[in-house]
Amino acid sequence: MRPFWVTDTTNVPVLGSRTRYIASLQVYGLIYATKRKRQLSDMKDKNLNLLDMFPEELEKALESLGEKKFRAKQVFSWLHKGADFDEMTNIPKALRETLQSEFALGGSAIVKRRESRDGTVKYLYELGDGERVEGVRMKYKHGVSLCISTQAGCDMGCAFCASAIGGCARNLLPGEMLGEVLSAQRDCGERISNVVLMGSGEPMLNLENVLKFLRLLSHPEGLNISLRSVSVSTCGLPEGIALLADSGLPVTLAISLHAPNDAIRQALMPVAKRIPVDDVIKAARGYVKTTGRRVIFEYALIGGVNDEPEHARELAGRLRGIQCHVNLIPLNALAESKFTGSGPERTAEFLKTLTDLHISATLRRSLGADIDGACGQLRRVYNGVQV
Ligand code: SF4
Repeated sequence: MRPFWVTDTTNVPVLGSRTRYIASLQVYGLIYATKRKRQLSDMKDKNLNLLDMFPEELEKALESLGEKKFRAKQVFSWLHKGADFDEMTNIPKALRETLQSEFALGGSAIVKRRESRDGTVKYLYELGDGERVEGVRMKYKHGVSLCISTQAGCDMGCAFCASAIGGCARNLLPGEMLGEVLSAQRDCGERISNVVLMGSGEPMLNLENVLKFLRLLSHPEGLNISLRSVSVSTCGLPEGIALLADSGLPVTLAISLHAPNDAIRQALMPVAKRIPVDDVIKAARGYVKTTGRRVIFEYALIGGVNDEPEHARELAGRLRGIQCHVNLIPLNALAESKFTGSGPERTAEFLKTLTDLHISATLRRSLGADIDGACGQLRRVYNGVQV
């Protein structure tokens, strides 16, 4: 029998569509040998972690310990301030000790931080089992934004990405993703206003946990972060995109496209050998139709690979008629990779070509280059691999 605290399935359509989703991943060849390892790890931890629970799940957990239900709200509120058991001062000491012996918090602790000259801060988090993931905090005029990881490493194999090297160790649980936000907020002493799921991992391969995390993140008795200020980034898995749209959560979908055609995309992203650009674009159109929200296409400009004016024209042709915006960013190069970011002239020309063709686009700054700003670099350094 499913333990009562595993997942409150209320409003979680993924479970109803789970068989279809798993089947689609098999069709696309996206289930790897590490899947079983991740599931075992998830199940072991899931039964124990308080940060994975909604208030109603906490109520049941406390009732099973013979405690009053009203304590659940108090505990939930403390947990979502990033508090440890010792800090829960309005909870009786005996109950705090019981909670500590029966459950883990299940968050993510900052074990390293690096601050860039441009103010960007990169975090290395450690999870309960010693796995490490990264997050990046950036300050903008509109507030503080945090980029978080959804998996420890990534199986998608993108040729320009440090997170792909070594593959995916496991999925992150909802409370671990929440823990990335809570720890960063305590570190900086400011409210995190925007969250971007664009660190290590492919969120659509951990969708059930991601959806629960999003519900916890926006819970009115918790951090209460508006989901309109949250972006979920994917390399473009159509079934996952459809399920995210069906979830009814008003997040922004960001698709890492990085190429105007299959030939270039296949050279950069192995997933493109299974999922053609046309399928990705079709899924984006479906998302816009279901949600009424525009889609963001991420496009890393790589010198001599995808940054010619003809590539911009081809991209504009593909995106015509879609309610979308293109974020261009010169690639943050890795030492292990042969790819380098495009220069300023080529970048400006690419942007102008797109906008002249009436495609909404902006050039994003490449932040944190002096602190291993690219996805997955810091984790590799502290896992003993110099980059
Ligand atoms: S870019 Fe994203 S999807 Fe690709 S390997 Fe890196 S983390 Fe995974």
